[in-house]
Amino acid sequence: MNPGKGAFPDHWPDSDLSGTRWRPSTPLLITIDGPAGAGKTTVSRRLAHILGYRYVDTGALYRGVAFAALEAGIPPDDDAKLAALCANLELKFEKNLDGTRLLINGRDITEALRTPEIAMAASTASARPSVRTYLLALQRHMGKDRCAVFEGRDMGTVVFPDADVKFFLDADPHTRAVRRFKEMRHPEGMTLEEMEAEIRKRDEADTRRALAPLKPASEAVRIDSSGLTEDQVVQRMLEYIRTKTGA
Ligand code: C5P
Repeated sequence: MNPGKGAFPDHWPDSDLSGTRWRPSTPLLITIDGPAGAGKTTVSRRLAHILGYRYVDTGALYRGVAFAALEAGIPPDDDAKLAALCANLELKFEKNLDGTRLLINGRDITEALRTPEIAMAASTASARPSVRTYLLALQRHMGKDRCAVFEGRDMGTVVFPDADVKFFLDADPHTRAVRRFKEMRHPEGMTLEEMEAEIRKRDEADTRRALAPLKPASEAVRIDSSGLTEDQVVQRMLEYIRTKTGA
């Protein structure tokens, strides 16, 4: 079944790929970069599942820092205070029956991360050198054994320039806003138009910042997911990985 243009559901009961498993013969590090709502999370999870790889949502790490900053009353653009915050921050992913959770200093904050307020604060904090330096080291540590799919904005350009396979996933802003709107189950007090405006604002900030701006790595394979189902996107990625690895 085609879930419809722009729909990226949480699970894929009717997916043609649901039984697909394929372990590449060499351990790969795969990066998927792109703007908010392009379908990165769904597709990255899915690809990681098929390959038996770890999936790492690096946006959640930036959101985790933003959450900790707001909770401590630190403005998300105060580099010195953010540096002090990061020095005492332990961010960790943990899997349990509810899926992958993000813990800060042992506390599960997963449920608090998906709000427009945290998204904007994450975007502001992510432009600060202290935050990027802290998370750069953490992400590289998480990727040291390869066999992982990393999703973010600068995975292929800055964090893992030596990644084996790089994708850049995009979609038009309206499609992305519709996806985010559905994902957040119609966020209270927010219209679709406001969501689209928020996404455009965040894109602008992420693309224009001086440090690790959102852009495709020169060797990244670019996919526009606007008119595609997640099955089709994952299929294209698998085909590319197979060709590249000679499988
Ligand atoms: O992907 P997500 O929407 O959760 O990311 C939240 C924010 O974190 C982004 O708008 C971006 O500013 C920042 N981010 C980043 N680099 C990454 C991942 C996310 O700057 N690798």
